[in-house]
Amino acid sequence: MSLSRLCQRCGLCCDGSLFSHVPLQPEEAGPARRHGLDVEELVGGAPALRQCCTALKNRQCTLYAQRPERCRAYGCRLYHALASGQVSVDEAFSVVDQAHALLAALDESLPPDTDVRPSPVMERARFADLSEHGLSPETRALRERTEALLDAHFHGGPRHFGEGSGEP
Ligand code: SF4
Ligand code: SF4
Repeated sequence: MSLSRLCQRCGLCCDGSLFSHVPLQPEEAGPARRHGLDVEELVGGAPALRQCCTALKNRQCTLYAQRPERCRAYGCRLYHALASGQVSVDEAFSVVDQAHALLAALDESLPPDTDVRPSPVMERARFADLSEHGLSPETRALRERTEALLDAHFHGGPRHFGEGSGEP
């Protein structure tokens, strides 16, 4: 129960903060498209869900009972730390709240995204840092702090979408 409450408060593995895509089995692509999900082809042609997932509303998966296999199998480092009793529910909630607060602050410090479908905050920050003028020192420090927290508490769980890089 505490694990589902954690994920209902979080949603970071579905909103693009941790991953750009979630790989799908070939047979999952058609049903995912029919559910209105944003299915793209990775290099090599394998299908994947682009993140932020369009099934995510208010940090909840609206297709929970029909979510793809990779979504069912995934658990981040914090999820497993709570499951194994290494952190308490309050500690886990606090980490999630810190992550959301940092992401919100980073979002505010970036130029507005005018795309019809805005990109995830971390993706925007990385691209902005590669742009001609780059990020201000303050925003770069905020980006690095956010990435460090995500790396420390979320990436690298025993089961993950991609092999270590956060990409499929
Ligand atoms: S990132 Fe972890 S805690 Fe957050 S929703 Fe995903 S599995 Fe749950
Ligand atoms: S289908 Fe649900 S669990 Fe899978 S990425 Fe989308 S919102 Fe997350």
